[in-house]
Amino acid sequence: MPDNLDNNCIFCRIVRGQAEAHRIHEDELSLAILDINPYAKGHCLVIPKRHVPWWHDLTKEETESLFGICRTVAQKIMKALHPDFICVIARGRRIPHAHIFLVPTHKGDPLDRFFNALEGFQEAPRSLVDLADEKSMQETAALLRNIIIE
Ligand SMILES: [Zn+2]
Repeated sequence: MPDNLDNNCIFCRIVRGQAEAHRIHEDELSLAILDINPYAKGHCLVIPKRHVPWWHDLTKEETESLFGICRTVAQKIMKALHPDFICVIARGRRIPHAHIFLVPTHKGDPLDRFFNALEGFQEAPRSLVDLADEKSMQETAALLRNIIIE
């Protein structure tokens, strides 16, 4: 059992079985549950069993587990509910315990409309237009390539 559980964290309480959740699938390091405020039927959350606010601070093993569970649960959702695809969003801001949203998505549903609206923002503001010019893209790519991850 992971050692740094946070008593005030709802996801840690769910991991320990001290709070209710509709558990869908799990392994030693990660757990998938139904979201209690679903965006769509079958909307799941996949959480690490260790209390870590941001998914990119997980260990390599935890990350492999987390996204392995995401893949299995996405395939379950596809088979059971037949959405167009499963949208993935990683959060941790509102509840500071990393959680991956798996949201079954159909053309024209609220999530689809949200991302379509977001595309409008990508092309509009000057600061974002500047990000897309070739020099800026080359600088950003070089910046990211030069970061070494152990
Ligand atoms: Zn937690």
